[in-house]
Amino acid sequence: MRRWPQAARGWTSPAECHLTVELPAAGCFLLWRSRLDMSSFTRRWFSHEPMTNERMIAEQIQARGVRSERVLAAMRCVDRALFVPAAQRAEAYADAALPTFFGQTISQPYIVGLMTELLDPQPTDKVLEIGTGTGYQTAILSHLCREVWSIERLPALADEARARLRDLGYENVHVLCGDGYEGLPSEAPFDRIVVTAAPPEEPETLRHQLAIPGRMVVPVGAVEQDLVIIDRIGPADFTRRVSIAVRFVPMLHGSADSSAS
Ligand code: SAH
Repeated sequence: MRRWPQAARGWTSPAECHLTVELPAAGCFLLWRSRLDMSSFTRRWFSHEPMTNERMIAEQIQARGVRSERVLAAMRCVDRALFVPAAQRAEAYADAALPTFFGQTISQPYIVGLMTELLDPQPTDKVLEIGTGTGYQTAILSHLCREVWSIERLPALADEARARLRDLGYENVHVLCGDGYEGLPSEAPFDRIVVTAAPPEEPETLRHQLAIPGRMVVPVGAVEQDLVIIDRIGPADFTRRVSIAVRFVPMLHGSADSSAS
């Protein structure tokens, strides 16, 4: 039975009338779906292509609003998979912080991108990082500034990050083991300071190791933490603004034996 010409001539039964409405609608739906199937949106979210560092940056960092081309380019140069422990390698590009060693973490890729963009390091800058961890953030900073000094309180993590960064060819980074609350007075002032563990309050000593002008990005708070941007605009003049709520491991006092943390 040929329903379409009949329907087109307008003398269909109620059941056929129903079909005249439904079939074109179904056709449109299928056409729309096939177009959607071919769109990059679908390829991105439903494909079985393996996640890569490049996709991680596009989908988790750029898509959420990190716009700095310098930051995105630096992140493309640093493969996160080289910094996560072997046991976590399958999750290397996951949209999450991952456990590393001694109860510590490698930060969520988006947060690394956001913090780096907020820090806005310049090619001539000397940067201090507190909380080396795996050295992932250190490596990204190394592409963006003149020199990075990074302090880690756990000796085993500091040693491992130092060796990893050296093996990867990073020459403008210095990893030290110590208490980040003290900063690094012998190398101050720093154009930029980034803190990747959360102190309960804004770290006063670090503020005074900023150059003028200088900027610090730090997660502040005991349980609920805010990502705070502190600009030093004069010897005793600082401005402060809050970006977003974050969750970092706590910044602990004193350098430590790895087994004790
Ligand atoms: N930026 C790291 C993640 C850091 S996790 C990365 O990209 O992998 C936070 C790190 O800060 C941990 O390794 C922790 O041991 C370290 N930390 C905590 N308190 C510290 C302190 N007072 N001084 C230096 N490092 C500290």
